[in-house]
Amino acid sequence: MTNLSYQSTRGKESGLTASQAILKGLADDGGLFMPDFIPRLDVPVAKLAGMTYQQVAYEVMKLFLTDYTEEELKYCIGHAYDSKFDTEEIAPLVKADGAYYLELFHGSTIAFKDMALSILPYLMTTAARKNHVENEIVILTATSGDTGKAAMAGFADVPGTRIIVFYPKGGVSRIQELQMITQKGENTAVVSIHGNFDDAQTGVKKIFGDRQFGAKLADKGFQLSSANSINIGRLVPQIVYYVYAYAKLVEGGEIADGDPINITVPTGNFGNILAAYFAKEMGLPVKTLICASNDNKVLYDFFQTGTYDRKRDFILTSSPSMDILISSNLERLIYLSADCDTAKNSQLMKELSASGAYQVTPEMQEKLQDFRGGYATEEENAAEIRHVYGQTGYVIDTHTGVASCVYRKYVEETGDRTPTVIASTASPYKFSHSVMEAVSGDQKDKDEFAIIDDLCKVSGVPVPRAVEEIRDAQIRHNRECDPGQMEQAVAEILGL
Ligand SMILES: *Cc1c(COP(=O)(O)O)cnc(C)c1O
Repeated sequence: MTNLSYQSTRGKESGLTASQAILKGLADDGGLFMPDFIPRLDVPVAKLAGMTYQQVAYEVMKLFLTDYTEEELKYCIGHAYDSKFDTEEIAPLVKADGAYYLELFHGSTIAFKDMALSILPYLMTTAARKNHVENEIVILTATSGDTGKAAMAGFADVPGTRIIVFYPKGGVSRIQELQMITQKGENTAVVSIHGNFDDAQTGVKKIFGDRQFGAKLADKGFQLSSANSINIGRLVPQIVYYVYAYAKLVEGGEIADGDPINITVPTGNFGNILAAYFAKEMGLPVKTLICASNDNKVLYDFFQTGTYDRKRDFILTSSPSMDILISSNLERLIYLSADCDTAKNSQLMKELSASGAYQVTPEMQEKLQDFRGGYATEEENAAEIRHVYGQTGYVIDTHTGVASCVYRKYVEETGDRTPTVIASTASPYKFSHSVMEAVSGDQKDKDEFAIIDDLCKVSGVPVPRAVEEIRDAQIRHNRECDPGQMEQAVAEILGL
């Protein structure tokens, strides 16, 4: 098999193996790692249709992680996608109101981040062994609410690793916050910052770029890596469920092998939808990728105009995991649309950090035709959740609500009836307050757990273990800091 090598989207680092790229997380020049090319699926859909999630995962991931042996990869997959998930299907498809909701929230923290973060620790520790790493690996993560918990659940008490999570104080749901601050594990640390998600993410990237700090860490036997979707080790496992969903649609007779589908994704950092694009580039018959945003509709504007402009107010919404103005993974798409011209990409990224905006060329914009942007306001989102529930009894969360609403508007505007998969990214239990408000009106100052019990009655879905766990859990983390003090917080936590 050909060995894929990885390079930075900004051109100063190349020739890494997959395991080396996963270990580093982010390139030294601030770029993101990309494979030399996107491999083609080499198993026919007819064969994939009969496979388990784990088997499909192997067929997809082996094409990207070419320096992992079959035994290593199957070990990682087998340990990641096990009884931590509450269904053997791992990612079930639910047909409701004319679309297929791909439920990506059956893992231990009930959001789609589990799909990749339950395997990343195995990929990372395997990579460390393969590359004879002696240092302790410190995972630095900025979270808009879901990544932090999922990453800690994956890395808690994994030997040879530490994990530090930064989240925006006041910018996550109460359930998300409780999940994080009650996290167990000697190697975990949680810090709330006085800022928004972009501040947290920019701060983490800055720490990665600080050579002097890196040297100090190395001196003490530490090295940094990332569990954010900038890590290629998160992107690759996310491709799997799109291939799996297509195979299941064929297996169930919903579509014929070769029929096109559309995919709608509620988008924040652009990782999940980029994985769907990778699946398309691998040969999966995908027609349109519908990129759904909330009121922070910087991506919608970008796909409309070709100008990415983050100079606008950051709006806190009921879909907090999408409250992002700097979508890091878009850089990978920009790089591809520039025909892998690293100089061109670097220049645009420089403009973004210097002036807060950049504009792609008409030629690049032409290459983005597979994407279509849409957005839903808070009112539209609530109406959508209420509508789907009223029509079908199916309760969706606030992020899935954005996607569902944008898809409905897309069909109205285009008349395109192509079968569509909607990525359902969180359990409604994770955003029970907003969901119950949408379904049955004002929740006033009702206790979060009383609302959860109501949601159980309304949806008929049992309360997930992840929620039961935090009912009486002890709070273990209370560190706070300003965005400018993040490096200092890391130093204190590690005892430098
Ligand atoms: C992270 C997240 C998103 C956004 O995904 P990206 O890969 O960052 O675009 C959407 N919904 C939920 C529930 C999430 O946790």
